[in-house]
Amino acid sequence: MSKRISGIAASDGIGIAKAYRLVNPDLSFDKKSITDVNAEIQRLGQAMSDSKADLQVIRDKAAETLGESEAEVFDAHMAILADPEMISQIDELIKSQKINAEEALTEITDQFITIFEGMTDNKYMQERAADVKDVTKRVLSHLLGKLLPNPALINEPVIVIAHDLTPSDTAQMDTNYVQGFLTDLGGRTSHSAIMSRTLEIPAVVGSEQATQAVKNGDSVVLNGLDGFAVVSPSANEVKQFQEQAVQYAAEKSEWRKLRDAESISKDGKHFEVAANIGTPDDIKAVTDAGAEAVGLFRTEFLYMNSDKLPSEDEQFNAYKQVAEAMKGKPVVIRTMDIGGDKHLSYLPLPEEMNPFLGYRAIRISLDRQAIFRTQLRALIRASKYGEIRIMFPMIATLVEFRAAKKVFTEEKNKLAAEGVPFADDIKLGMMVEIPASAVFADQFAKEVDFFSIGTNDLIQYTFAADRGNEHVSYLYQPYNPALLRLIKNVVTAAHREGKIAAMCGEMAGDKIAVPLLMGMGLDEYSMSATSILRVRSQMKKIDTTDWTKVVDEAINTCQTHEEVKELVEKHLQPSQTIE
Ligand code: PEP
Ligand code: MG
Repeated sequence: MSKRISGIAASDGIGIAKAYRLVNPDLSFDKKSITDVNAEIQRLGQAMSDSKADLQVIRDKAAETLGESEAEVFDAHMAILADPEMISQIDELIKSQKINAEEALTEITDQFITIFEGMTDNKYMQERAADVKDVTKRVLSHLLGKLLPNPALINEPVIVIAHDLTPSDTAQMDTNYVQGFLTDLGGRTSHSAIMSRTLEIPAVVGSEQATQAVKNGDSVVLNGLDGFAVVSPSANEVKQFQEQAVQYAAEKSEWRKLRDAESISKDGKHFEVAANIGTPDDIKAVTDAGAEAVGLFRTEFLYMNSDKLPSEDEQFNAYKQVAEAMKGKPVVIRTMDIGGDKHLSYLPLPEEMNPFLGYRAIRISLDRQAIFRTQLRALIRASKYGEIRIMFPMIATLVEFRAAKKVFTEEKNKLAAEGVPFADDIKLGMMVEIPASAVFADQFAKEVDFFSIGTNDLIQYTFAADRGNEHVSYLYQPYNPALLRLIKNVVTAAHREGKIAAMCGEMAGDKIAVPLLMGMGLDEYSMSATSILRVRSQMKKIDTTDWTKVVDEAINTCQTHEEVKELVEKHLQPSQTIE
C-alpha cells in the first residue's frame, strides 16, 4: 500500500529513488556478564577496525568536498581509535569484570569525556570530549550491528530521509546521487530548504513524520513542487511522477533559452533578476543562469566554513573573486549575519532564550568592531574589482545604520591614507527584515542607497512565528495583506527618494508574489540561482499596469492570505501560470 506524506514544498523538482535514512539508530544496550573474555576483546577489536575503515572513507570524502583542514577532525577520530592507553583500559575492564564490550567501552570513554570536559581553561581539550563521544558512538554501532548512516558512502540514487539536514551532512554526500530530501523539520526558509534549492535537489521539509514513516530501502517518489512524497508508490503513481518529471525537465529547458535575455515585463518595464549566494563556489550556477546581479552574498558562510575568523586577505580574495566573475554587474555583499540559527564554534555567543530576537548580525558587528572592521576593509579593497555594494543586516533603527556607516567611513579613510585603491562611490544599503524599519522606510530612504527586503525574517518578525518551526509554518504568509502593505511602504519610500528597492528573501522567487511585487514596482528580485529563469519567464507574461490594480485590491479589499492567493490565481491567465 502506498502512503502519502505531506510537507512543505522547499525545492522544485521530482525525485524517484530508494530511501536512504540519515537518522541515528538507537544505541542503547544492557550491561551483560560474559564468559569468553578473549572472544569479547576480539569483538571489540573488530568493531574498532570497522570504525577506522568508515572514518578513512569519510575523511577522504570530506577532504575532497570540504578541503584538507575540515577533514582533519576525522584524523583526530582515528587517532582516538589507535590510543593504546584507552584500548588497554577497556580490554582490562572486560578481563577483570567479565562484562560485555559495549559496557566496558562506555565506562572507559565516559571517564575520558568527564576529564576532558572538566578542563574548563583548555578549550582544545574540551573539544576532544566531543570527538571521544563521536568515536564511541561509531564503535558502539558496530558492536550492536546498528550502523550509523554514512552519507559519504552513498553511491547510488537515493532520496535522503532525515530529521533535519545540516551543511555538514550535505557536504559529506555526493549530491549527484541525491534525488531528493524529505525531512521532519524545517520551513520554506529554513537553511536546509535554502541549501536544497542551491544544490538544485527537490525537497519536501517539515513533514513531521518522514523518519517515522519511511524505512531504509523503501521506494519513494517526491514532489518538491507541491510538497509531498509517496512511499511504496503503485506502478501507476510511479508512472505519473515520471511523466511530471519529464514535463518539468521540458519546462526547464524552455527557460534555459532566456539565459541571455533581459528581464522585461509584457508592457516593456525592466527589472533585475539576481541571485543569492553563500560562497564564491556558488557563482558558477549564477552566471550559468544569466543573473543580472548578485543581490545577496550571505558572507556568514565564509565564517561558518572556517575554524577561525577569516582574515582580511581571505575575505578580500573571496569578494574579489565574486566581483570579477560578475564582470561589472552589481554584487551586493551583506556583512556577517551570525546569531539566530547560525553559529560559529570559535566565537561562543551567550546562551539566549530567544536567539532570533537576540545578539545577532549588525548587533554583533557594532559591538565587536574588530571583526566588523576587518570585513569592511576587505570589502572596500575588493570594490576595485567590480561593482561591489555593501549591505547591513537586521537594521532596526536609524542610529544603527548611522553607526555602521560611520565605521565604514572610518575604515575607508584609513585605507585612503594608506594609499590603498578602492572604488569611488561604494553604495551602502540595508536589509529590511524588521517591521520597525519597514514602517519607518521613508526616513531610512533619505540615508541609504538601497533597500533589500529580507522577507524570510520580515515575515517571521511580522507574524511572530519562528521561520524554522513547522508547528507555526502556517504563519509564513507572504501574501497576507498586512505584509504586502509593509512591502509596498518600503518600495514607495525608496522611489520617493530615487533609491532602489530590492528583495532577497525567498518571496522574491515566489510565483504568486512576483506579479504583485512587479505591480508595486519592486526593482530587483534576488533568489536561489535555480529560480532565476523561471521568474524571468514569468515576468515576460505580466502587464504591470494591470497588476498595479490587483495590488490595490489585494491590499485594500482582501482580508486574508488565502483571499490574496485566490485573487492572484484568478488574474494569472492559464498562459501565465507557471506550474
Ligand atoms: C531574509 O531574512 O529574508 C534573508 C534574505 O536573510 P537570511 O535568510 O539569510 O536570514
Ligand atoms: Mg534575514
